[in-house]
Amino acid sequence: MQHRPAHDTSRPILEMKNVSVRFNGTLALERVSFQLQRGERVAIIGPNGAGKSTLFNVIAGVLPPSQGQADIYGHGPGQHTCIAYVPQRSQVDWKFPVNVADVVMMGRVSKLGLFRWPKRRDWSLVEESLALVGMSHLAKRQIGELSGGQQQRVFIARALAQEAELMLMDEPLTGLDVKSQEDIFGILEKLRRLNVTVLVATHDLNLAAERFDRLMLLNQRIIGFGQAQQVFTPELLNEAYSGSMRLIETANGMMVISDTCCGGGDHVHA
Ligand code: ADP
Ligand code: MG
Repeated sequence: MQHRPAHDTSRPILEMKNVSVRFNGTLALERVSFQLQRGERVAIIGPNGAGKSTLFNVIAGVLPPSQGQADIYGHGPGQHTCIAYVPQRSQVDWKFPVNVADVVMMGRVSKLGLFRWPKRRDWSLVEESLALVGMSHLAKRQIGELSGGQQQRVFIARALAQEAELMLMDEPLTGLDVKSQEDIFGILEKLRRLNVTVLVATHDLNLAAERFDRLMLLNQRIIGFGQAQQVFTPELLNEAYSGSMRLIETANGMMVISDTCCGGGDHVHA
């Protein structure tokens, strides 16, 4: 029998306490502390190597921190099926011969236990999850045949089938066209109504500012955490991105321009 920690829902869904991670003596995360309330949508932004994926691994319980602890509803690491990790697309083997419905059913595996076959409730949860992300019509399609945006939606459906209360999405927008990004934001809206807490790592500062409740500016340590006006200041952006980001004023507010990220000189629209 797997050990499943009980929840104390009067506590924050996630509480990071002084978490540091060291790889061979190099600090990837330094004294990271923060709390998430249930239903919040928070974007984590920071340059490559800032520690975003490392932070997700600690929260998911697959990487023990060198110091500190991540508590889920007041409980330390364990088999928390209420947390789902939506992987970066580059980390998935897309040649693996499995169809969309099977991928989503994988979200039920931790709930099934040993030697149990999916029951009607499991399949109906899979169906509901696929419907929510608008992928019902492709349930029998091989996962490798889908577009990037569709693949991302399937992994969100898997997290939904797991009945996850906290979803960790590692760069779900990277490499998607504007329409597919909008589809993902539409799904995030539905998740908000379901009171699912969402933590998204992203490179897109402007989208982060527009679409999330709070932003975390991360580079080994938390440089800023709050609403866009508090976090997107020249000082904090300089500190996180070593001077490679600039803020300019536009008709409808501020816009962040990147000098070096993603190929150099890319203008990120507001
Ligand atoms: P991000 O996701 O923000 O790009 P990562 O969390 O992947 O950053 O990496 C943070 C730092 O930790 C980087 O310097 C990276 O090289 C290092 N790192 C990540 N995972 C490992 C690992 N398994 N072993 C050694 N170093 C690692
Ligand atoms: Mg990463």
